[in-house]
Amino acid sequence: MVAQLRQEMDERSAAFESTPTEQIVAWAVERFASRLALSCSFQEAVLIDIAVKVDPRIEVVFLDTGSHFPETLEFVETIRSRYDLNLTVTKPVVGAEGHPCGTAQCCEFRKVRPLKRALVGKDAWLTGLKRVDAPTRRSAPIVAYDDSWARVKINPMAAWTDEDIARYASEHGLPQHPLLSKGYLSIGCAPTTRPVIEGEDPRAGRWFDSDKVECGLHL
Ligand code: SF4
Repeated sequence: MVAQLRQEMDERSAAFESTPTEQIVAWAVERFASRLALSCSFQEAVLIDIAVKVDPRIEVVFLDTGSHFPETLEFVETIRSRYDLNLTVTKPVVGAEGHPCGTAQCCEFRKVRPLKRALVGKDAWLTGLKRVDAPTRRSAPIVAYDDSWARVKINPMAAWTDEDIARYASEHGLPQHPLLSKGYLSIGCAPTTRPVIEGEDPRAGRWFDSDKVECGLHL
């Protein structure tokens, strides 16, 4: 069963390399119906804009780590009301108190386990992962069966660049995260995110005082 699913997704992934994101999302909605969710960091709203045009009631998951900037929470509300989103907001699981922001297990308690709970009953999830986001994501497939999550993971924006995101957001009049104009080009939790200066890598402000490049969701 899993082997069959894995093969189906591998074949899809190769074919999807040249398929518009809207069509990949439409396939995911048709293939998995209500057993599909979309997880979003709410740094921007491009994937949500695309997904709700395919399925206005698609379930969107926001991982509230308890450490987000107030501006991120404000942006979540802006997007929720703009689309009347079917939004699930997770909270850190019990035990998170023992793992302060930035520590090795922090993401496990504030993102990974809450998302695993939110995905109970789902067979697949859509992510906004982009290959340009980190060296660890350079060869990310469009769609694959993910053993560690025991689900199909769909990355319909894998081939997008930062410029593609900015262009889509501008052409479709999407609201911007309030911190974007203040130099925060990659936005995560407040304690581990700083603005970048001109000429720096857009992601230099994430986990700036550690070697960390992944939070655990996409390992
Ligand atoms: S991004 Fe940083 S602060 Fe946020 S959950 Fe992960 S380790 Fe914790």
